Amino acid sequence: MRLARPVVFGNWKMNGLRAESLALAGTLAERAVRLTGTVGVFPPFTLIHAVAQRVRGSGILVGGQDCHEKASGAYTGCIAAPMLADAGATAVILGHSERRHGLGETDALVRAKLVAARAAGLLVVLCIGETEAEYLAGARSARLRAQLDGSLPEGIGPEGLVVAYEPVWAIGTGRTPTAEEIRATHGEIRELLARRIVGGEAVPLLYGGSVKPDNAGEIMALADVDGVLVGGASLDARSFWTIYQAGGGA
Ligand code: PEP
Repeated sequence: MRLARPVVFGNWKMNGLRAESLALAGTLAERAVRLTGTVGVFPPFTLIHAVAQRVRGSGILVGGQDCHEKASGAYTGCIAAPMLADAGATAVILGHSERRHGLGETDALVRAKLVAARAAGLLVVLCIGETEAEYLAGARSARLRAQLDGSLPEGIGPEGLVVAYEPVWAIGTGRTPTAEEIRATHGEIRELLARRIVGGEAVPLLYGGSVKPDNAGEIMALADVDGVLVGGASLDARSFWTIYQAGGGA
C-alpha cells in the first residue's frame, strides 16, 4: 500500500473512554471527505473495533499501539497481531519509547513483534529515537543506527513499513529538535534505510515529539519528512486536523 503524503498518525495512548473517543473518531470521519493524504488513529485496544466501525468508509486508518510477538497462546493480558486485524486494525505502532523505556522492550523483541505484525498483514509504524543523555553526548546517530539494525528483520522489504523518528526527550515535553536537526536526522535515517533494505529509500519517515498545530507546517515542509506521529494533540479533533492541513492535507 502506497501512503499518500502527508502521513499524519495520532497515538491516543491510554486515553479515552468509549463516548468521547467515538465522538473524536466521528468528527475526524466527517472531516475526511476526500482525503488527499493519509490519516490514521491508534486508540487503546478496547476501542479499536468501535473506532474502526465509526470511521469506516472515510479512508482513516485504525491501528493498535502494540502487539505480542506470538500469534496466540498462554500470554495473559497480551494482544496478538491477528487479533488487532480481526478487530478492524490495519496498522500497529511498535517500539514506542514508552514501551522501550517504560516497559523494557528491546530491539530484539521489537523485531519479533514486527515479524508477527507483518505476518498478520498490518502496516508497521516502527518508532526509534535517542534519549536526552544520548542526544547531549552526541550519540544520536549511533543510537538510531543500532535501533534500526536491531529492530528490522533481515531481508525485510519496504512495503508495509513506516519509520517514526521520535526523540525520547521531545515526547510530551513541548520541546523539539531544531528544524535543521530534524532535517539532518531524517536524511540520515533515509540513507540508513536505503542501505539496509532494498528499496528502503521509499519507506515513509514521520517525525514525532511535541508536534502541535503551530509547528507542524514547518516540520512537514522539511526534506525527508513525510508526515508526523502525534500524541497529545491528536486527542483534540481540531488540533489534529489543523496539523494534517498544515502538512498540505485536505
Ligand atoms: C508520541 O507519544 O508518539 C508523541 C509524539 O507524543 P506527543 O505528541 O504528545 O509528544
